[in-house]
Amino acid sequence: MKNLILASNNAHKVKEIKQILTGYNILTLKEVNFTEDIIEDGDSFEENALIKARTIAKYSGKAAIADDSGLSVDKLNGRPGVYSARYSPEQTDEKNIEKVLTELAGEQSKAKFVSVIAMVTPEGDEFTFRGECEGEIIFEKRGTNGFGYDPIFYVPELNKTFAEISSDEKNAISHRKKSLEKFAKFLKEQDNEN
Ligand code: IMP
Repeated sequence: MKNLILASNNAHKVKEIKQILTGYNILTLKEVNFTEDIIEDGDSFEENALIKARTIAKYSGKAAIADDSGLSVDKLNGRPGVYSARYSPEQTDEKNIEKVLTELAGEQSKAKFVSVIAMVTPEGDEFTFRGECEGEIIFEKRGTNGFGYDPIFYVPELNKTFAEISSDEKNAISHRKKSLEKFAKFLKEQDNEN
């Protein structure tokens, strides 16, 4: 099985990526003994995903992947966007959600989750794959599954939030599923060429 190093310390993300990207041996930063913080100062999900993957490809001398993701709320002009993880001063899921709901002040809004997977090879080749999932923001948190903004991300077709569905259900439709699907297709094509 091929090894891929995943440049993330977010246990929820690592779990989802491992569940979706089967057929690859995903190594985490802990497993490659990388303990430093990576400064994500890019203006886009693509830039931040590349910053993380580049750092780890350079550190390990092996192909590295990273997911940069977040919530983009229409009525907030796309915020929190790349600042999703650190939107409130406390940088906790609860306070981040509170800030989004306070800023919306009761106004209904569509929103989307975005996930960008980047891969950087030891030779310096760089690739990105984007997945998006559309929904709406609700003002009462619903459900306890998932992480981040899942309790306020409502999917009308399911009449449920992302925190009310199982990980299997989320992994079938999520932004991360879509970006990883594109990435897996790319890896397969590369394997076939070699
Ligand atoms: P990153 O680690 O800089 O990519 O930050 C991602 C942040 O976006 C997370 O900390 C969450 O706040 C949010 N986020 C990304 N994906 C999801 C998801 O699937 N559900 C809920 N929140 C998410």
